[in-house]
Amino acid sequence: MATLIDGKAIAAKIRGELTAEVAALKTAGVTPGLAVVLVGEDPASKVYVSMKEKACHDVGIFSDEHKLPVETTEAELLKLIDTLNNDPRIHGILVQLPLPKQINTEKVLEAISPKKDVDGFHPYNVGRLVVGKPLFQPCTPYGVMVMLKETGVDLAGKEVVVVGRSNIVGKPVAFMCLQQHATVTLCHSKTKDLARKVGAADVVIAAVGVPEMIKGDWIKEGAVVIDVGVNRVGDKKLVGDVEFEAASRRASAITPVPGGVGPMTITMLLYNTVQSAKRQ
Ligand code: NAP
Repeated sequence: MATLIDGKAIAAKIRGELTAEVAALKTAGVTPGLAVVLVGEDPASKVYVSMKEKACHDVGIFSDEHKLPVETTEAELLKLIDTLNNDPRIHGILVQLPLPKQINTEKVLEAISPKKDVDGFHPYNVGRLVVGKPLFQPCTPYGVMVMLKETGVDLAGKEVVVVGRSNIVGKPVAFMCLQQHATVTLCHSKTKDLARKVGAADVVIAAVGVPEMIKGDWIKEGAVVIDVGVNRVGDKKLVGDVEFEAASRRASAITPVPGGVGPMTITMLLYNTVQSAKRQ
């Protein structure tokens, strides 16, 4: 049976280290600050934002919350971002997505100063990642890389198969693995013979959003499986993109869902904010 890669434990360890770093920064006169902007009343977004706020408080980061009404105009939001870009107390700016339809998301993300772009979504930061000189790295894929490192996986020369090519997970994690000298195959909905490709992988990273679509018997004996997928089935149950039980019988290590990649995402947001405070 595969070893479980415990995202909760890895996240708790990093948050402990960040708490100490924030305390040291405060002694030196710098309090890391994260501005979190929520527009509208989307219930899932409200939950994510309150989780982010709580996580900031827990490690001692100043959390500057901006909850705006759903009818907020693009100009009003851009004005707020400009204010935050110029506020020396703020080291990171996070605009919770999705935004209401009257607001152009791309324009908003590009208005955030690349030096405060702790989500790593600004084209400047995407470009830095692609050329192998990252500044801010997007939180979920960054969390995946930390989990691989903590599990002792050396990616040099390994075959990595990423399933899913979104801008927030699949594409960035593929570039991060390439940077670690893996040979990367990036698969998507038009990929032919996915089972064979997954079956050749030393490391499988699934970011699809389809419950258990990667079958356990596709996994090569001894492979490492990172499941980014979070899919609700039925009323309460959460499952990943990988058939967990069957994959566990073949993999050497695997992330559970929940309790795998999930806890890492907010942790890396805190990490990026602290790094930003140290840089500024
Ligand atoms: P997304 O934007 O919907 O992208 C899904 C990707 O999967 C697309 O590239 C799509 O291909 C590909 N795909 C869909 N069906 C496929 C199939 N049958 N075979 C192969 N590829 C297929 O999703 P996302 O935002 O990257 O999220 C992916 C999953 O990760 C979701 O379950 C999401 O909830 C989860 N997630 C978790 C966290 C976390 O913190 N744990 C953070 C972000 C996302 P095309 O490009 O060809 O359409």
